[in-house]
Amino acid sequence: MDESVRLERDPVCGMMVDEWAHQVVHRGVGYAFCSLQCRERFVSAPGLYVGRKLLAPKQKGMELIKRRRMEFGVPLTQAQFVELNDALLSMMGVMTLRSVEVMVDAGCDLQRSGSETGMTVSIKAAEVSYDLLQATALQLERKIVTLNATLSNEWGEKLQRDFIHYLEQCELDDLAIRPGAQAKRDGRTRHAAFSFQRAA
Ligand SMILES: [Zn+2]
Repeated sequence: MDESVRLERDPVCGMMVDEWAHQVVHRGVGYAFCSLQCRERFVSAPGLYVGRKLLAPKQKGMELIKRRRMEFGVPLTQAQFVELNDALLSMMGVMTLRSVEVMVDAGCDLQRSGSETGMTVSIKAAEVSYDLLQATALQLERKIVTLNATLSNEWGEKLQRDFIHYLEQCELDDLAIRPGAQAKRDGRTRHAAFSFQRAA
């Protein structure tokens, strides 16, 4: 056994990982991550995962479960969906994936006359649920595109995706604890303490 490798807890997903894996140093402390996905989440808002004076949301055991429907640009076959399913469920924080199916006439693009036309299942969208503290819609979409699937290019769909990215970022930014934020936000308590000091 190699005893030179120490295990560290990935602050995003909680897995024990080799201390040298996907490292980041934040405020003088080194952190290790199981994947680039977790590393990316941490770097985008460390205050969601670690805190010094205050416990960060993740340290308090918070989960932010989201459910989204993702429309494909080109419907997937069942075999393609199985591949996508495996890849997305292997991502940290992805909980369920469900296909949204439509029946298509397999014969419609081929020679119609004479040939038997069977109906086949085609998958036009997926419904995915995930923990926003571990995975964002943007990360899921990027993964989908690396699997040679496409997302709907319709104007409304693109706009909605951008809006969701924005909302998710706002939600995460709001939850993250920041160094020094407590003193500013808690002005009333500070003032009370100050008055008490003067009175004493
Ligand atoms: Zn991780």
